[in-house]
Amino acid sequence: MKINHLGIATNGIENALKFWEDALGLENVHTEVVEDQKVRVAMLPIGESRVELLEPTSDDSPISKFLEKRGGGIHHIAVEVEDIVASLARLKAQGMQLIDEEPRIGAEGCLVAFVHPKASGGVLLELVQTEQGSATS
Ligand code: ZN
Repeated sequence: MKINHLGIATNGIENALKFWEDALGLENVHTEVVEDQKVRVAMLPIGESRVELLEPTSDDSPISKFLEKRGGGIHHIAVEVEDIVASLARLKAQGMQLIDEEPRIGAEGCLVAFVHPKASGGVLLELVQTEQGSATS
């Protein structure tokens, strides 16, 4: 496994880029709206991983709720797995609480699923499977 990305909640991507891109020196290589999760994301590669800046696209976006409660900051850690269905089954078999029992389509067409912070002791974990990306539109 490896860290696919770190998800960071922001009030606005453009403003956040002043730090991550202009000041720190990362490069925003991809911006996209993920309708399913009501977010706009920007991807900035860093080593083998990426920083994923998240901005809500509506008031009922999960990111809106996070920002209201805690302000901006680290929202989730995304772990890359080879077989997301098998990983979910394994977690479920061990009694771990899942947010998504089935994978969904995330940014860049990856299969993603969120594991409840209760399972990990407070960290929202996203599982990502990248392989099937190009097969889905
Ligand atoms: Zn993510």
